[in-house]
Amino acid sequence: MALCCRGYKGGGKIEEYAITSTLRLLNLELPIPGFKQFIGVYLFRGEKTALVDVGPKSAIPHLLSTIAELGISPKEIDYIVLTHIHIDHAGGVGIAIKEMSNAKVLAHSRARSHLIDPAVLWEASLKTLGDIAINYGSIEPVPEDRIVVATDQMQLELGNGLTLEIYLTPGHATHHLSLFDRANSVLIAGEAAGVCIDGVLRPGTPPPFRLEDALTSVDRLITLKPQKLCYAHFGCYDNGPERLKRYKEQLLLWYGIIDSATNAGKSLAEILLLLREKDRSLDYLDTLDRDEYARELALLGNSIQGLAGSVRKS
Ligand SMILES: [Zn+2]
Repeated sequence: MALCCRGYKGGGKIEEYAITSTLRLLNLELPIPGFKQFIGVYLFRGEKTALVDVGPKSAIPHLLSTIAELGISPKEIDYIVLTHIHIDHAGGVGIAIKEMSNAKVLAHSRARSHLIDPAVLWEASLKTLGDIAINYGSIEPVPEDRIVVATDQMQLELGNGLTLEIYLTPGHATHHLSLFDRANSVLIAGEAAGVCIDGVLRPGTPPPFRLEDALTSVDRLITLKPQKLCYAHFGCYDNGPERLKRYKEQLLLWYGIIDSATNAGKSLAEILLLLREKDRSLDYLDTLDRDEYARELALLGNSIQGLAGSVRKS
């Protein structure tokens, strides 16, 4: 069951949703057609305050005004935890920390050098996303002294009984991590559990995707038995373990189809048609408006390429 969001198509206003008494989902409405309900930032409040991801540069003004509407000064943000440093999750962090002047940035060790010097990350974003990257906005550097390297099973104590456990969950990216609020049984999965559009699951597997690592990460998240599973794209849902198992099955199904189709020399468009025949959940594409459809088509193309380039050990 969706805890929020199903059927909501956005409006002029930034939306935020209470997930638990200490957790809110903030809907970053980007000034990009088709991206009204696609990027979620999570806000935890104990005695201390932590944001999980901040979105790209073009979303930062919206993020700051949402926080202000909640009566929170940017200076009250103690931590920004980055699930990974892809541009749609972390591209705006260098700008955000100028306002969030007390915030430490927690990220995977592999993310550190790219946060300090984002030139390679920006080039890779342009290559993978093209115009979408330009609309997200450029990536500004983060000063070294603001970064804290997150390690596996690290515990972030926010006070008032709120603790976030960090799990390194590579696959979608080598620098991916997930957060678990054990007391409330809420998993913030970033993109390690795929992408969920209006309740429909699809792989988020852009190159260089690592299938074996992703499967291992999903298995690990299943062992946490999260009651609620929160996707960066987009929203929180009940029955975490079941949703994680379904994602694993979908990854394997798609890998099988894409691997044999690639070996048979099929084009991207032909592979998408094959996937639509064998995974009817892709029927959600027919429910999207034109801009959302264009977004999904571009991102599905990336996911197909990522799965085509990954290797499954037998
Ligand atoms: Zn993403």
